[in-house]
Amino acid sequence: MKFFFSETQMLHQPTQYMVHGKLIHAFENPNRATTLINALQNAGLARHEPPASDLGPVLAIHADHYVDFLRVAHQDFMALPNHGPEVLPNIHAYRGADAAFTPRGKPRPTGIIGRAGWYVGDLSAVIAEGTYASSIASAEGAIAATRAVMGGDAAAFALCRPPGHHAYVDRASGFCFLNNAAIAAQMLRAEAKKVAILDFDTHHGDGTQAIFYAREDVFFGSVHTDPSAYYPHYIGYADETGAGAGEGHNLNLPLSYGADDDTFVEANRRLIDEARKRGAEALVLSAGWDAHHLDPLSKLTVTTAAYSRIGELYGRVDLPTVIIQEGGYSLEAVGAAAEAFMTAYRATRGC
Ligand code: ZN
Repeated sequence: MKFFFSETQMLHQPTQYMVHGKLIHAFENPNRATTLINALQNAGLARHEPPASDLGPVLAIHADHYVDFLRVAHQDFMALPNHGPEVLPNIHAYRGADAAFTPRGKPRPTGIIGRAGWYVGDLSAVIAEGTYASSIASAEGAIAATRAVMGGDAAAFALCRPPGHHAYVDRASGFCFLNNAAIAAQMLRAEAKKVAILDFDTHHGDGTQAIFYAREDVFFGSVHTDPSAYYPHYIGYADETGAGAGEGHNLNLPLSYGADDDTFVEANRRLIDEARKRGAEALVLSAGWDAHHLDPLSKLTVTTAAYSRIGELYGRVDLPTVIIQEGGYSLEAVGAAAEAFMTAYRATRGC
């Protein structure tokens, strides 16, 4: 089984991240990728360099004016007087309630502060000098893994860093800039009438949900920590089931603080059952390792053993499968969980 990673993905090196009113050192850093490369190689996966891709698959998901913003944001921000090292907005646009998450179009401001506040949803999505190049390279990993699967591989892993599941059509947030899982799912749609994206990162995949919320051809199912006092706070509740044609094609399984291995594994089992019921012909996994109790952001009590158990569950799903790296911030937990998951997955699936 192949995994895809490019050294260009190391160029995204944010130095700060706002949490609980303090600017601290960024959790989402290149060391995560180094740890994951080792974990995947220990699990027997072979590293491949993703080829350069045109922007077609990215623009099939993201607004062109948003991608343009990501490309120029850092350079424009550096032209401000008294600027800091990275793009951080000091204002955020208000957005009216819209059950279907309709894209907003271009912002009226032409200045970088107003554009940053429009396109950047929170103060973890820090745009540094190498962020655009890294985000494109990360998406190219997802594109390459998806092409491998469409070319006949049973499964492939995209070591996406920066991650993607909090990125919207036109918004960066939660360490994410381009939604790699959504890009993969849209590509798979060329051959599969119905695609399921199942997300077991401990944070709800709000960007992915929003992108497909009004569509019936992509089912999104997520197990995550109850968002009522946890990121992403505003989205990820159990009563969000889809809008319009997408009604019934979105499933959120929020877990209470302290949820254990059995609860986490059962929720993953349910996601798989619901994807089967809806006739999924291809699968994208948004794989985050931050439910692990050692993770600095985790509120659950999930252990490495649970990742082995869900690796086996997903390994029994005999569908073309693209596994996309999302979060996980304890290097110890990331290494152990990813290796346990992929070892069990490969052994079960036989790939
Ligand atoms: Zn996460």
